[in-house]
Amino acid sequence: MSPRPTPPDVDRAAASRAAIAARRARAEIKRQVASRERAAADVATVGWVDADSPEAGMRVRELLLSVPSLGPTRVERVLTQLEISDKKRVGGLGPRQRERLYDYLVARQGGDSARLVVLAGPTAVGKGTVSSYIRDHHPEVSLSVSATTRKPRPGEVDGVHYYFVSDAEFDRMIAAGELLEWAVVHNSHRYGTPRPPIDAAIAEGRRVLLEIDLQGARQVRAAMPEALLIFLLPPTWEELVRRLTGRGTEDTEEQQRRLETARIELAAQDEFDAKVVNREVSQAAREVVELMDAPFRAP
Ligand code: 5GP
Repeated sequence: MSPRPTPPDVDRAAASRAAIAARRARAEIKRQVASRERAAADVATVGWVDADSPEAGMRVRELLLSVPSLGPTRVERVLTQLEISDKKRVGGLGPRQRERLYDYLVARQGGDSARLVVLAGPTAVGKGTVSSYIRDHHPEVSLSVSATTRKPRPGEVDGVHYYFVSDAEFDRMIAAGELLEWAVVHNSHRYGTPRPPIDAAIAEGRRVLLEIDLQGARQVRAAMPEALLIFLLPPTWEELVRRLTGRGTEDTEEQQRRLETARIELAAQDEFDAKVVNREVSQAAREVVELMDAPFRAP
């Protein structure tokens, strides 16, 4: 067999120019979907009508990832559910796959906005500050008040910041099934989310925000898959280190332990539907509230 001829340089240059243009066009489509200028279902439809379009050349995975509030973990799940392989491009889908993808995207467009939103993130990233800001500036959002077995700090009000309960009362709440989730945080006290106020707020059409730790976020995902999980990130790793160690009140061993915990916690970010960087509290709070308003909700 004769070796495959090498294409002349001019052809290669033209092909590479075309590849760059196609990549740019796909990036622009992703931007439009992410900013809600275009619906993902419309992008897919164009790809099916015109097999040479940049829409047809997009991977389904890329298209789904550009939908606001669809994170990598959920995209993996959706692809499995739709029986579409990871590498498939929009134009390469079979008729049944097209139908399933289209129905899924349309269902999400028509879906309600997230009713239950979980804000989690590594220690010292500023979850508490962001959720307090939301409590003070966004009265339309209900903040869940957790129960805890730890003692109140100065200025903390029972029923506002936490329900401060005894160990026996916490045991009772678990046994009565009153907690949506609960966890031992920082190896010391128990914290849990009372379920009845959440059910009541959702029934009234209100949106509820839970500021809880990672273990709690995972339990909420399992109990209520329709919840939107947001991960709060520090601007940089260095900044998180500064916030963790800056207080200077812990010895070196304790600081090392906290840094190790933060590293493990940061590794969980891809389990989340959306990420918000906490550069500035009011901006991060606004982004969280905007995500709560995103119209794309369906498991
Ligand atoms: P703090 O004692 O400083 O108020 O809170 C300590 C940690 O407990 C924070 O990381 C906070 O996110 C977490 N936390 C507060 N309430 C709950 C809850 O109801 N469930 C879980 N799992 N964690 C919580």
